[in-house]
Amino acid sequence: MLPLVALVGRPNVGKSTLFNALTRSRDALVHDQPGVTRDRNYGVCRLDPEAPFAVVDTGGIAGEGVHLETQGLAGATARQARSAAEESDLVLFVVDGREGASALDDEILAWLRKTARPTVLVINKIDGMDETTVRSDFARYGFSDVLAVSAAHRQGIDELLEEILARL
Ligand code: GDP
Ligand code: MG
Repeated sequence: MLPLVALVGRPNVGKSTLFNALTRSRDALVHDQPGVTRDRNYGVCRLDPEAPFAVVDTGGIAGEGVHLETQGLAGATARQARSAAEESDLVLFVVDGREGASALDDEILAWLRKTARPTVLVINKIDGMDETTVRSDFARYGFSDVLAVSAAHRQGIDELLEEILARL
C-alpha cells in the first residue's frame, strides 16, 4: 500500500489546488474530462516516479459547499477530515499566506495536535507576497518545517515534494 499524505486546512486555503498540483501530471490535465475528476478526494502523486504516494484532500469529503465554519468542528466534514488525518502517514496543514493566521486555523491546529500525526505547515498563496513577512505571521505555530508555496503557480512544489518524501 502507498503511504498516505492528508491535506488538512480551512476552506479556501487552496487544498484542492495543491491536490491537483501534486496528483495531476500535465498529460492528465489535458486528458481529464471536466467534472469527472474534479471532486475526487484521493489521488496518487507521481511527481517522483520512483516514490509514489497517495494524497487525500480532506476538504471535499462531505461534498461541495459544506464548510467547517457553518458546521463547526463536530460536523460530519470535520469528523471525516479528522479520520483521514488519523489514517495518514503525514499531514500537510495548509494555510493561506494572503489572509494570515485565523481563529479557525488555530482550532484546526489544536485538533491536529491531538491526532499526533507528523505534520508539516504549508503556507499557500505566496505568489506576489513577501515570503519573510508571510512566514513570520505563522511563526507562533512553532513548526520546525514550514514550506511556502503557490499551488496555483506551481511555485515551491519541488521543495514540498522533497520534504514529503524525506518524511515518508
Ligand atoms: P480549498 O477550499 O482549500 O480546496 O481551496 P481551493 O483549492 O478551492 O482554492 C480556493 C481559492 O484560492 C481558489 O480561487 C483558487 O484559485 C485560489 N488559490 C489556490 N491556490 C492559490 C495560490 O497559490 N495563489 C493564489 N493567488 N490563489 C490560489
Ligand atoms: Mg477544496
